[in-house]
Amino acid sequence: MAANMIQFHIKGKRYEGSSDWVLGEVSFDIAAGRSLSIIGPSGVGKSTLLRIAAGLDESFEGTVERSEKFSMVFQEPTLLPWRRVIKNLTLLHPAVSDKEALSMLERVGLLAKANDWPLQLSVGQQRRLSLARAFLGNPDLLILDEPFVSLDEVTHDNMVQLTQELLADSGAAVLLVTHDRREALQLTQRVCELRGSPATLHEVD
Ligand code: ADP
Ligand code: MG
Repeated sequence: MAANMIQFHIKGKRYEGSSDWVLGEVSFDIAAGRSLSIIGPSGVGKSTLLRIAAGLDESFEGTVERSEKFSMVFQEPTLLPWRRVIKNLTLLHPAVSDKEALSMLERVGLLAKANDWPLQLSVGQQRRLSLARAFLGNPDLLILDEPFVSLDEVTHDNMVQLTQELLADSGAAVLLVTHDRREALQLTQRVCELRGSPATLHEVD
């Protein structure tokens, strides 16, 4: 059996100062090259779960282990506005050459923007840059938190298609959180739903 890129086994999560459990018992593994979406309505606990998955929140009951070679794509593109587009790629990946970075920019349709500032890009272009940055380090696990929200329909569908292509090439395992069931079905092999309070995970077909 392929190694697991993430093993997520928590008994529960509640925020400090609150008596309510946001997450109940939630358990899943993602093997190398496999993909899982977690869908659910706003406020159910998706981002809470992803922050735990990424190691950004260590206050929970249970155990989570993940590959060290993982990348994240957030709802907001989280770019460095005072660094040019190409530097937004190479600063995070010192081992990546300018040539490789330019080739990734070409891949996501931003080659002509290499020397622009991030804020000169449209929102859709900023998201593509953020995607390029995530894939550039050759991660073996990608963690995505609603990466395509609030884009118009055409831009959204283009982003989904680009992500599908990049994923097919990279072979990375994927953990995607989204409220968009169609997007989940397009991008991942397995879809689960987070529901209830405290929220637990349910298989969706
Ligand atoms: P989703 O991503 O599914 O929209 P979140 O994980 O952001 O949901 O939030 C789930 C619940 O946890 C909400 O009730 C939210 O108010 C609460 N919550 C999120 N972050 C914090 C925090 N830092 N402190 C206290 N409560 C929080
Ligand atoms: Mg969220």
